[in-house]
Amino acid sequence: MMTRTTPARPLDLSELFSGVNAFARTATRLHPRPGDPDVGGSHVGGRLLWPADEPWPVCAGPHVVRQETAIAPDLVARMQAGDWAAMQQLARDVPGFAGTMTTDQGSVAIGSVTVSEPTPSPMVAVAQLHAADVADLRCPDDADLLQVLWCPHQHRDGDYAGPAVQLRWRTASGVTTMLPTPPPPPTVAREEDYLPRPCALHPEQVVEYPWWQELPAELGQRIRQWDDSRQFGEETYFSVSQAPGWKVGGYANWEVSDLRPMDCPNCRQRIDLLLTISSSESDGGSWMPVEESHLQPSWTDPQWRAVNEPTGITVGRRGDLRIFACFKCPATPYRLNLQ
Ligand SMILES: [Zn+2]
Ligand SMILES: [Zn+2]
Repeated sequence: MMTRTTPARPLDLSELFSGVNAFARTATRLHPRPGDPDVGGSHVGGRLLWPADEPWPVCAGPHVVRQETAIAPDLVARMQAGDWAAMQQLARDVPGFAGTMTTDQGSVAIGSVTVSEPTPSPMVAVAQLHAADVADLRCPDDADLLQVLWCPHQHRDGDYAGPAVQLRWRTASGVTTMLPTPPPPPTVAREEDYLPRPCALHPEQVVEYPWWQELPAELGQRIRQWDDSRQFGEETYFSVSQAPGWKVGGYANWEVSDLRPMDCPNCRQRIDLLLTISSSESDGGSWMPVEESHLQPSWTDPQWRAVNEPTGITVGRRGDLRIFACFKCPATPYRLNLQ
């Protein structure tokens, strides 16, 4: 199996920022790449080691479904003339109004409606990870395998909008009789961006450092100010401290929202990052594996896309879905954060 190797970090953070080394933590980059993974191994998408006598998880919704509504030509004309009241009227009339879109066929308003499903829809396999393959995968005491499934529709829960995630922890050797074929994914109104392409993994352990707001105030400020003093295109603490792409463990970045400490829904203690599900792997730059460094970022090069967007999954605005888990509480409660 071909390995994937992260190049040496272009900045020595422990040298640059004394004290930061105490917060170093390992993460395992998964490096998913399109393939035909074995059902028993670690992979993204594909099939899961699933006991024949265990029901396949389903989701009853409710689901948020995108809707496009044609805008009447006179309203389009008013909006094009800069009539603000026309836009306000549209925002009032279209449920879940999120903007407009104009194509050759005319102008449409984009909105969304929440629908309940007449029958619960089957979830799809997102990842299967063995602790033996993924160095930073922490498991509850009685487990050595993590399975991640989700419902490939849009769900809203507080400020979270994305797929509904379910985790299953197992002992791999405990699955003796396998489910022959999992149910096919739902075909109605699912989000194509939530259907992962089967990928083989090439796990690699790297060292990460916390988001600056998670560090003691003085150290965090020193890092922030140093980053602000860097010129455009130069490497920063931000660019070299945390691996992009799919990973297990390590630290989350809080670029979009600023730090939001993740607490266990049960014991309210701070909980750590378990898994990051990412829309892209590195977008080039210093995290690009050396084995693939000959490839240039390109939207049209299938080789580049297989390396940078191997799973075909897009979450949020081409962002990351992060799963944080509590290993102190029974049943390993978890929380989701998308940005
Ligand atoms: Zn659902
Ligand atoms: Zn807890």
